Amino acid sequence: MRRLAEQDCSVVLQRVTAFLDHELDGASTEVIRLHLEACERCVEDFDAEHAIKQLVNRCCPEEKAPQQLRVSIMTSITTWRRG
Ligand SMILES: [Zn+2]
Repeated sequence: MRRLAEQDCSVVLQRVTAFLDHELDGASTEVIRLHLEACERCVEDFDAEHAIKQLVNRCCPEEKAPQQLRVSIMTSITTWRRG
């Protein structure tokens, strides 16, 4: 596996939400996707974001999740993972 620059991760994590919302253009989407395939650390964060989106869409598809809900879901996921 090729070594990934620290900076790549921060860029990817900043864009994960846009990636999930399909707000990125094709080239940017590909960059993020390839990085996630290669970088375990980002995948963990990506999974958390993805899980949050799924949960939020399930319970209130028409509304944006309030920040507090996101935080509480994130906390549950983190706690669950540490199990
Ligand atoms: Zn990464």
